[in-house]
Amino acid sequence: MSRIHTTEEKQLIDSLGRVHNNLRISVTDRCNIRCFYCMPAENIEFQPREELLTYEEIERFVTVAATLGVSKLRLTGGEPLLRKDLSKLIKRLAAIPGIRDLALTTNGLLLAEQAAALKSAGLDRVNISLDTLNEQTFEKISRRPGLERVLEGIFAAQQADFKKIRLNAIAIRNLTEAEVIPLAQFARIHALELRFIEFMPLDAEGHWEPEDILTGATIRSLLENELCPLEPIERDDPSQPATDYRFTDGLGTIGFINPVSEPFCGDCNRLRLTAEGQIRNCLFSDTEWDAKSILRNTRSDHELAQLLRECVAAKLPAHGIGQPDFKKPTLAMYQIGG
Ligand code: SF4
Repeated sequence: MSRIHTTEEKQLIDSLGRVHNNLRISVTDRCNIRCFYCMPAENIEFQPREELLTYEEIERFVTVAATLGVSKLRLTGGEPLLRKDLSKLIKRLAAIPGIRDLALTTNGLLLAEQAAALKSAGLDRVNISLDTLNEQTFEKISRRPGLERVLEGIFAAQQADFKKIRLNAIAIRNLTEAEVIPLAQFARIHALELRFIEFMPLDAEGHWEPEDILTGATIRSLLENELCPLEPIERDDPSQPATDYRFTDGLGTIGFINPVSEPFCGDCNRLRLTAEGQIRNCLFSDTEWDAKSILRNTRSDHELAQLLRECVAAKLPAHGIGQPDFKKPTLAMYQIGG
C-alpha cells in the first residue's frame, strides 16, 4: 500500500517556508525584437529547435509539478507567440488537474492575430510589454520598429476579453522618465492596468548599472505631482511581485515591481522552466536542474518530482543585488524567460 503523503510533502516548500505554486515556462529564446535590457542586438546563437522542450514534454513536466502544488502558470520567452501553434499547448495545460490560472507575457507584436485563439484555448491573463508610446523611443529600446502592432495587439486583447490584461513598462533612468505620464494616461483612458518594472541586471550586453534604475518611488512622486495622489491597495496575494495603488481621482490603478529598490524575495513563490528544459529556483540563480534528461530518457515522474524538490530546497533567501558578493547571472533575460 502506497504511503500517504502529508500536505507538506505534496508541496514545494523551501528552507524559508516559501510555498512554490507559480511556474514560469519559457517556450522559446527567440524574439522578433531586440530590447537592450533583455537580449543582444546581433549575432545571437539561439537554441537549436530540437533542444527546445516539445509541447508533450512541457505538458508532462507541468502534470508532475501540479501534483506538488503548482497551480499558476505563465508562458514566457523570448517571445512566446513566435512558437508555432501555442494555443495547442495552452489547451493542453489548461486541462491539467490542479492548474487554475494560465497567463502569458508577450511583446504584443503578434497578439492581434492570435488573441482570440489564445483566449478560446483557455488563456486567462495576458501581460503586454509597453515601455513607451513614442515610436523613436520604442526603436531605441527594442532596436526594431513595431509600436503600432503592439497597440493593435493591446486592443485585440481587450476585444478577446481576457480575465486580466496588464501593461508592463520597464523603467530606465535617463530614458523613460518622459514616458511615465503618457503611459499612465493611456492606461487610465483605456481602463488598462499598468505596472512599472525596475530595470534589472539581466541585459545580455552587461551594461546595467545601479544608477540606471528609475525607482518605483521616483515614478510614484512623478505621478502624484502631475496627476493626483495615489493610495495603496491591500495585496490579495502576498507573493505577488507588484505593489498596487489606486488613483484617488477614481481613474484606475497602477502598480510597481521594484526588485532592486524594494525586493520581494521573502514571499517568492516562483520557479522557472527554461525553453531547453532546465529548472531555476530564482531569476538570478546561476544553478540549473536538468529536467530535460529525465523527460527524454524514459526516466520516471517520481525522479522529476524529486528533482523539483531538490531545486526548491536549494533556493537562496534573495537575489542579492547590491550585496558585495552579487554576481550577474551568466544567462540573459531572453535565455531564462521573464
Ligand atoms: S529575485 Fe529570485 S527569489 Fe527574488 S523574487 Fe525574483 S525569483 Fe524570487
